[in-house]
Amino acid sequence: MKTDDVQSEIEDLRAEINRHNYLYYVLDSPEISDADYDSLMQKLRRLEEEFPQYLTPESPTQRVGAPPLEAFGVVEHQVPLLSLANVFSNEELEAWYKRTLKLLDGQKPTFVCEHKMDGLSVALTYIDGRFTVGATRGDGYRGENITQNLKTIKSIPLTLPKGAPSLIEVRGEVFLPHAGFNKLNKERAAEGQPLFANPRNAAAGSLRQLDSTITATRPLDIYIYTLARLEGAKFPETHSESLNYMKSLGFKINPNNLSADTIEQVEAYRNEWKDKRDSLPYDADGIVAKIDRIELQERLGDVGREPRWAIAYKFPAMQANTLLKEIRISVGRTGTLNPYAVLEPVSVGGVTIKQATLHNEDDIRRKDIREGDTVIIQRAGDVIPQIVGPVLAKRPALSVAFNLPAKVNGVCPECGSRIYKPEGEVMYYCPDAACPAQAILKIEHFASRGAMDIRGVGEKMSVILYKEGLIGDFADLYTLRNKRDELLNIERMGEKSIDNMLEAIENSKKRPLANLIFALGIRHAGEEMAGILADEFGSIDSLEAASKDEIDAIPTIGVKISDSIIAYLGNPKNREIIQKLKDAGVTMSMENKQTGNKPLAGMEFVITGKLESMSRPLAEEKIKQLGGAAKGDVTRKTDYLVAGADPGSKLDRAREMGIKIISESEFLGLLK
Ligand code: AMP
Ligand code: ZN
Repeated sequence: MKTDDVQSEIEDLRAEINRHNYLYYVLDSPEISDADYDSLMQKLRRLEEEFPQYLTPESPTQRVGAPPLEAFGVVEHQVPLLSLANVFSNEELEAWYKRTLKLLDGQKPTFVCEHKMDGLSVALTYIDGRFTVGATRGDGYRGENITQNLKTIKSIPLTLPKGAPSLIEVRGEVFLPHAGFNKLNKERAAEGQPLFANPRNAAAGSLRQLDSTITATRPLDIYIYTLARLEGAKFPETHSESLNYMKSLGFKINPNNLSADTIEQVEAYRNEWKDKRDSLPYDADGIVAKIDRIELQERLGDVGREPRWAIAYKFPAMQANTLLKEIRISVGRTGTLNPYAVLEPVSVGGVTIKQATLHNEDDIRRKDIREGDTVIIQRAGDVIPQIVGPVLAKRPALSVAFNLPAKVNGVCPECGSRIYKPEGEVMYYCPDAACPAQAILKIEHFASRGAMDIRGVGEKMSVILYKEGLIGDFADLYTLRNKRDELLNIERMGEKSIDNMLEAIENSKKRPLANLIFALGIRHAGEEMAGILADEFGSIDSLEAASKDEIDAIPTIGVKISDSIIAYLGNPKNREIIQKLKDAGVTMSMENKQTGNKPLAGMEFVITGKLESMSRPLAEEKIKQLGGAAKGDVTRKTDYLVAGADPGSKLDRAREMGIKIISESEFLGLLK
């Protein structure tokens, strides 16, 4: 390929990726599948590796983080980042409005209402359309240079479209959506790491990492709400125009912003969102009303560190104190003993809280939460209610530190088996695979949406089927169609719903491999990891055949997960369940796109060394899918030796024996 062609191919790829990125992360409306997006990225990464002279810091491949810094640099803010004045009631808001009217000689302003995002404000500067500096607010005048970290946030454009101004500085709030926060804390709880108290702290901790590759793993997002500086274009006359202008440049603007003509409309906006805040995927602690005309903003100016032209109208607090009556233990699907708090019911921001998760014993001890304590409860939207900590002044005299084994007398509260705690872990486990609590939850998990998606088999039905003795594990679900009469005998089960359930069970046999792997309930194999395992191995057979070394050789799979897969498959009971699924006709491999077409039929392959484009198990799976055989050793029957990087002794042997040796790219050619 001519290098000019390479360069233009690279540029085209970047433009295409940036467009899909924008569609996905800013507009929330992707046009292509994740897999197609990944393959575009992979193509670009390869080209950039081969032709490093064309690598630029704005390339979408550079969002994965950079080498760790010693310390952050300092950024002087050209325009200071101010704070906001707060009000808490309509009266206070109206008083602010009256003062403002007076200062404007009675000229009535209009407003833009926005959510007051509870995250971290940042300033992003673009020179000639390129993201050059990103900074924290700091003291408002000087912040920290966190450009590397901000580049990992996919909703921040790295380049602006053609015709962008020569200089633009925008400001906005970086936040961690609730779903990401819950997931992060769950992972940290399982690993015994200290938990983040709320999404804001988690976002702060993520943004202020000297190692931006850590930031890259946190699903941070941003909304832009201020145009701070502009050169090479005319500054808009209103705030709403500036929002539209920034939107046209590809910045992510909160779709919940709303124009208001009167102060009553501002009140209505705040009241509406006060009631709906729980439906938001992020934390907002109030609303902000901003006077729309920039000229009026300038006339009003600032007082101290607060602009006179904007006001935050806060929501009621989301914290409350209550009595922790008891710490109870439930048994999870993977056998974990999960402590949770039973609370004296308390209303927090309009929702009654009776229970809160306590994650693990270490976390309880770290916060020193005890039965009988008065505790501070905090909640936010769909974030699991948190216990911030005890109110020590109210601690009863005879309280004792919490001890999990003592609480349950050393045995599983569901089945009485002796509990244990693996070395280096924080959770206690019930070891018994026959523990009813675990069995039922495993069935429920197997049937759930992200797993086999069997409508009709939910929490209640899992309990019924198990307790009625109709199934002993989830693989038995596929035997239910022979037990229709017995199902009909169960009280309150209609014929129609039974048939619907049986049909859903039948349909689930065609679920994709990734969902099946997730459904098996292997410890640490969440939805994302199940997808990776499916991509890497291509079938349950090849996963079962893999050694620990082979699994560890796959860079996206950590040791924790490989240990857990080996342990899972090493358990005869699990193998038996998998065999039952196979016998029932559940799909056990990735959809073979060329069904019936077996171009490699009768050919034997041996692979040596490391392949660039796929894991070895996947390569072997593909050979099998195309009708070929993949063998471990070179023999006279071998047709091809595929030689990857750092080939082993198999290469020498193949040479001696005169066997055809092919490169990875030749191999990929054969697979096509
Ligand atoms: P405070 O920290 O309470 O003084 O409030 C000022 C901060 O509110 C700003 O520095 C921003 O971080 C934050 N903020 C959140 N949402 C907005 C918004 N829509 N407009 C302006 N500031 C906001
Ligand atoms: Zn048990």
